[in-house]
Amino acid sequence: MSAELFNVADIFGENVFNDTVMQERLPKKVYKNLKKTIEEGKELDLETADVIAHEMKEWAIEKGATHYTHWFLPLTGVTAEKQDSFISAPMQNGKILMSFSGKELIKGEPDASSFPSGGLRATFEARGYTVWDCTSPAFVRQDAAGATLCIPTAFCSYTGEALDQKTPLLRSMEAINVQALRLLRLFGNTTSKKVTPSVGPEQEYFLVDASKFRQRKDLIYAGRTLFGAMPPKGQELDDHYFGTIRQRIASFMKDVNTELWKVGVTAKTQHNEVAPAQHELAPIYAEANIAVDHNQIVMQTLKRVACQHGMKCLLHEKPFAGVNGSGKHNNWSIITDDGINMLEPGKTPHENTQFLLVLSCILKAVNTHADLLRESAADPGNDHRLGANEAPPAIISVFLGEQLEDVMEQLVSTGIATHSLKSGKLQTGVATLPDLSKDATDRNRTSPFAFTGNKFEFRMVGSRDSIANSNIVLNTIVAEAFADVCDVLEKAEDFELAVHDLIKEYMIENQRIVFNGNGYSEEWVAEAERRGLPNIRSMVEAIPAITTEKSVKLFERFNVFTKTELESRAEIQYETYAKAINIEARTMIDMASKQIIPAVMGYTKVLADTVLAVKEAGADTSVQSDTLAEVTELLKETRTALSVLRNVTEEAAAKEEGPVQANFYHTDVFPAMEALRSPVDKLEMIVDKELWPMPSYGDLIFEV
Ligand code: ADP
Ligand code: MG
Repeated sequence: MSAELFNVADIFGENVFNDTVMQERLPKKVYKNLKKTIEEGKELDLETADVIAHEMKEWAIEKGATHYTHWFLPLTGVTAEKQDSFISAPMQNGKILMSFSGKELIKGEPDASSFPSGGLRATFEARGYTVWDCTSPAFVRQDAAGATLCIPTAFCSYTGEALDQKTPLLRSMEAINVQALRLLRLFGNTTSKKVTPSVGPEQEYFLVDASKFRQRKDLIYAGRTLFGAMPPKGQELDDHYFGTIRQRIASFMKDVNTELWKVGVTAKTQHNEVAPAQHELAPIYAEANIAVDHNQIVMQTLKRVACQHGMKCLLHEKPFAGVNGSGKHNNWSIITDDGINMLEPGKTPHENTQFLLVLSCILKAVNTHADLLRESAADPGNDHRLGANEAPPAIISVFLGEQLEDVMEQLVSTGIATHSLKSGKLQTGVATLPDLSKDATDRNRTSPFAFTGNKFEFRMVGSRDSIANSNIVLNTIVAEAFADVCDVLEKAEDFELAVHDLIKEYMIENQRIVFNGNGYSEEWVAEAERRGLPNIRSMVEAIPAITTEKSVKLFERFNVFTKTELESRAEIQYETYAKAINIEARTMIDMASKQIIPAVMGYTKVLADTVLAVKEAGADTSVQSDTLAEVTELLKETRTALSVLRNVTEEAAAKEEGPVQANFYHTDVFPAMEALRSPVDKLEMIVDKELWPMPSYGDLIFEV
């Protein structure tokens, strides 16, 4: 098979209303005004908006677009949109024109009463507005609906409260921009005009065959399997990780990449992940708000293209018990408009005071607000990873690596750092292989927050979640630490001395958050407890962090969230958890009563008939009757567990909504689900495969 000629450079961004397109199509003055808005946050007048809207529409129609939509991120975790066609009212002669005004571009008013608002918006005054975010470029999406012009927007209530992820994200980016610039100025930087958090999320996912997916109600309703015995082979051979990509998957990946490149997403790295049927895709990093939008596009594209290939993409954090789950590594750094990465240590970090100050601020931020960071990664699916038996642990700690930890130790013990560990050469002992210079530090894959050269990698985010929350928290807590040091340093008489003192003070005070060892070990859990670090094992235990006094003070200080907004978000989190577990419990009840119990009863009939027939033939029936007894015992256990689960689920539904109900789902319903699963999984190992009513784990993950 020869590869068709394919030039990525030709298709990249072809469906994006990007800078090049704007420069080509917009009158000079309009282009300049828009750039001012994008770069400096200047308000856009309606006249300019009208011209932009017109050109955007013409361009989109050339790409085949019939509709436009304000594309936003409500608090459901997925994107939302309402599509309008470009047609205007028919003219006298019965013909129509295609129109799109500046007003329609800038503002939309979806009837938004059904989106979660956590009580922010009473339904009788359910006005919600979508507002154009011109910092994230509009694009044309091509799918079965034809082509649609998608305009990234923020979503807020009539009174200006944020009802989405984007609004607080943009606010947090502004906070860190302002505070980071203050810090840079103190170190003599007069040229940088803007500091932006950069984000590169690595997305993990599973692919299963669509026909098998359709035979499993748990995958359909809950996105994860709720029953399922382990296949004889799992991931123990590590033969899937980075393994050769099979042709069916390769062809899927090719289409995903093409779709992503067209809409300007920089899909870069792809590989097989640890678990069978698990894969990963990472783009090149981008400004935080674009990275957030692009990650949503990535998730949608994975799902859409999977369907076109007769597969289903599972984004759930734990689709299969006992098999590695999926997460998202959020790589984060802070970079100026003139290209300075504030997390770049240079070759001799011990001499780089600005870097050391930034680093100690981040340590302080993470140590002070570990609970908020943990909460930012909380979702019902992630409860199966964080704090369960999987990576990363639920305890927040920071991995610095050998070199920086050594600098930190020097500072903490003597107050001055005199040297940085050198990296040395990597020698393979093979003459024909070049000697490489080694990275100054090795990797640690078990840390939830790891320094990786010139960025931090926050590894807790769930695979299905938006990365917005984590970045809102990161940006804001680091902005706070920067603001605090700037408050001191701007008044200091001896700047050098004051910086030195602050670095030392912060390093000493926040030393407990640094951990370079094995984050999965039992010893670390005990050690972390001795250090007083929070170990928040579940989503319901994590949610209260949102509304503590400390959190309200932080977010209000930087205008990222008001107290009311925080309270509404906590409420939504409780609701989300309760709803998710309720769906899972009801799905289990449905599957157990309508599919599993009938199938097992069918099998007992087969066994009973066999016992009788064998007996009549005068042979020994012990194997058959023992099996029948064993199956009957497990069947009884199943029925008992089923009725317990029915009862607690009913009880849960009657509880007062909010923390009470969510906690009840966690402490009572969830264990009852486990109790039902246990005998069923044992039965699956005994019952004739022909009679089992759904595909097994083996069928799902080894036969894609
Ligand atoms: P690693 O092997 O260290 O995980 P990769 O090169 O695979 O590094 O990068 C992982 C992700 O991190 C990619 O999305 C990449 O674009 C992103 N990344 C790289 N450098 C930065 C940076 N300075 N800031 C934010 N993200 C970054
Ligand atoms: Mg990585």
